[in-house]
Amino acid sequence: MNKQTVLDVDLQRKRVLVRVDFNVPLKDGAVADDTRIRAALPTIQHLLAQSAAVILCSHFGRPKHGPEPEFSLRPVLPALSELLPGRKINFAADCVGSAAANQAQSLAAGEVLLLENTRFHSGEEKNDPGFAAQLAAHAEIYVNDAFGSAHRAHASTVGVAKLLPAVAGLLMEAELRYLGQAVLTPQHPYVAILGGAKISDKIGVIQNLLQKADKMLIGGGMANTFLRAQGLALGASLVEESALDTARALLHTHGDRILLPLDAVVGDRFGADAKVQTIAVAEGVPDGWRMLDIGPQTVERFGAALHGCKLVVWNGPMGVFELAPFAAGTNAVARLVADCGATSIVGGGDSVAAIHGAGLARRITHISTGGGASLEFLEGRILPGVEALNDR
Ligand code: ADP
Ligand code: MG
Repeated sequence: MNKQTVLDVDLQRKRVLVRVDFNVPLKDGAVADDTRIRAALPTIQHLLAQSAAVILCSHFGRPKHGPEPEFSLRPVLPALSELLPGRKINFAADCVGSAAANQAQSLAAGEVLLLENTRFHSGEEKNDPGFAAQLAAHAEIYVNDAFGSAHRAHASTVGVAKLLPAVAGLLMEAELRYLGQAVLTPQHPYVAILGGAKISDKIGVIQNLLQKADKMLIGGGMANTFLRAQGLALGASLVEESALDTARALLHTHGDRILLPLDAVVGDRFGADAKVQTIAVAEGVPDGWRMLDIGPQTVERFGAALHGCKLVVWNGPMGVFELAPFAAGTNAVARLVADCGATSIVGGGDSVAAIHGAGLARRITHISTGGGASLEFLEGRILPGVEALNDR
């Protein structure tokens, strides 16, 4: 990705507007999980080390009617202060307007100003030029470190980038480097593993990665539709009738590189207390039962396919991993990905949760922070928030 980063520009004593993703979960008015705040720290610390004055902006939730207290970014302030000990962290109760402008202009070198939720202004999602100009006026340089929002052309992701020198933050840079490897410059052998509930959510990813990867391993609910397209009986399993033709066409063209489940864990209903058995897929799913996880033979098959690969990209769980009886396949694949010795890239909210749940996060080369953004990237689309950054 030929985009400038914070390492390419002089930030010494500059006022820098940084778009971060502080859209964190709250519980009882406090940050319940600070992963996203931590993910922005390398960039913030890099800027502070160069005596920049750091102005942070982010969206938070989906306020519909302007400022609503439940969507305030104020609860992030204590969490951020804790992660940046000894730094003065200020808060602007509105992200634009004369008070925010004054706070930004008087911010000293090495200080941080957190701006209130950009979505309190309708100009944010409309990418309104006037609103973008007000944000841009706070700073001399713009840094985008919010990869998870880069698929949206909003004022704080695209509008400001047109008005200031615009560069990628370190998190954004890592996302572009690793996801770029997956779609632009993969090492081979390259194996893609796809799962999750539906083909229709990920058809663009399947099609694009089939152009790049040597093999594609498919599990989860989306495998059902492929198996149905092969004429197998699937009982009461989730099957997308509307995607059967697509599945058939993909198998026709790329069938030799698509690996489907050989066996499955089926339940007599959708629930943690379902009756459970393991069946061979070729024998079909009994009437009224549903495929809710891949079976041990499939795990073995997938493990063999991963053997010796140089790059593995995984998106989408292999089964209904939220329910303990159907979590084994996803956990086993998580271990295969961590153990295979390849550069490993995992994206997608549920797959990432599964990696964390299995305690394997530290053994994955890159865990993407962007859900929708990483899917669009893997589809081969150019994200507007990335496109808007200065070329190198
Ligand atoms: P990600 O967030 O990693 O991109 P998805 O959101 O596409 O993944 O898919 C995750 C969801 O798919 C989970 O809620 C999981 O329960 C569901 N799922 C996986 N396998 C099946 C299946 N066989 N039947 C029904 N749902 C499934
Ligand atoms: Mg998901």
